[in-house]
Amino acid sequence: MRAESGSDTPGAMTEARTFLPFALPDIGDEEIAEVVDTLKSGWVTTGPKAQRFEADFSAFLGEPGLHAIAVNSATAGLHLALEALGIGPGDEVITTTHTFTATAEVVRYLGADVRLVDIDAATLNIDPAAVEAAITPRSRAIVPVHYAGLAADMPAILDIARRHGLKVVEDAAHALPTTCAGRLVGTLDSDATVFSFYANKTITTGEGGMLVTRDAALARRARVMRLHGMNRDAFDRYTAKAPSWYYEVVAPGFKYNLTDIAAALGLQQLKKARAFQHTRARIAALYDAAFADLPLLRPPQPRSGDMHAWHLYVLRLADGASIERDRFIERLFDAGIGCSVHYIPLHLHPYWRERYALKPSQFPQSQKAYERMLSLPLYTRMSDADVQRVVAAVRVILK
Ligand SMILES: *Cc1c(COP(=O)(O)O)cnc(C)c1O
Repeated sequence: MRAESGSDTPGAMTEARTFLPFALPDIGDEEIAEVVDTLKSGWVTTGPKAQRFEADFSAFLGEPGLHAIAVNSATAGLHLALEALGIGPGDEVITTTHTFTATAEVVRYLGADVRLVDIDAATLNIDPAAVEAAITPRSRAIVPVHYAGLAADMPAILDIARRHGLKVVEDAAHALPTTCAGRLVGTLDSDATVFSFYANKTITTGEGGMLVTRDAALARRARVMRLHGMNRDAFDRYTAKAPSWYYEVVAPGFKYNLTDIAAALGLQQLKKARAFQHTRARIAALYDAAFADLPLLRPPQPRSGDMHAWHLYVLRLADGASIERDRFIERLFDAGIGCSVHYIPLHLHPYWRERYALKPSQFPQSQKAYERMLSLPLYTRMSDADVQRVVAAVRVILK
């Protein structure tokens, strides 16, 4: 599931068809030149490029007062955000069962408990009514995920949070760029938002992430905890006027800083983020049109005027479909097409299932969606011929 690409089919000489991977990063000459520049500069860990990447990222979001904190993964960013909000033992954090385990595992790092809730079948995003029903006196925070790149119902979630005194940290790993009621995810009224630059995300630094917040105290804490609980990061340490060797350790922090090599990739990828979104949306529209007459549920669409990042293109087999999901995926692989499932819900994984005695019947919408869903290849390096090849294979299988 986390593989960044498939491989060519070995020995498929007679077929003479290469394997179409599920995902591929789109790295151009600009990224390569920026990385080479970094390597030649002599500064390879966190330094001027990471700092520039943070500034460019807040400029991309386009609102004053945003702090952007570069980290080496979204997992790290989620951990830092919840840590800075003071989440700890005895607390509960509410999130969706229909996500990658990173969203929830960071809560356990802090010794707090996870309350998994079901999704809204219409959007595949966390169901606000289920969030409200899961609130207890121990609840401290909600972590919505903008699943596949479609904004979660943030007005409803922020309203629940306000009424119950809860914090909100958005898992925006899929959501660059996504808008919610016309505003970019990252500029909404939550406490923090975390983006991922993992290899298969909409922009990539190989591994990397960005924590964004308007809360100056949260930002200060996250910057300290990002690098060992030291009160300066390496760049400040070597350039500030204070004695260059001096720092203070104020907490047992983490090693979550983003390297300048990775930030170099990010600087150039970010410039392409809007164009990448256009390409992804165009491919999604081609798929939508081609599948209109098939026994499929096509992906939920954004509200009119809103932008979907189209990180994933998720199909669900309709009730009357003539084939089961697992067989469908096998047939696509037989046709040389990589695909995946997002996600095996957390309530089915042994750790989460056993830790919280979870049953599928507690999450009927997620369970039903999971049993019928698959994600098709959707990335900027796909040619029109690649898209048509996927369309043709899907049509043949469902005929
Ligand atoms: C990819 C992903 C993450 C983790 O991102 P990393 O940068 O790999 O740590 C978290 N949540 C969701 C929903 C993701 O898809």
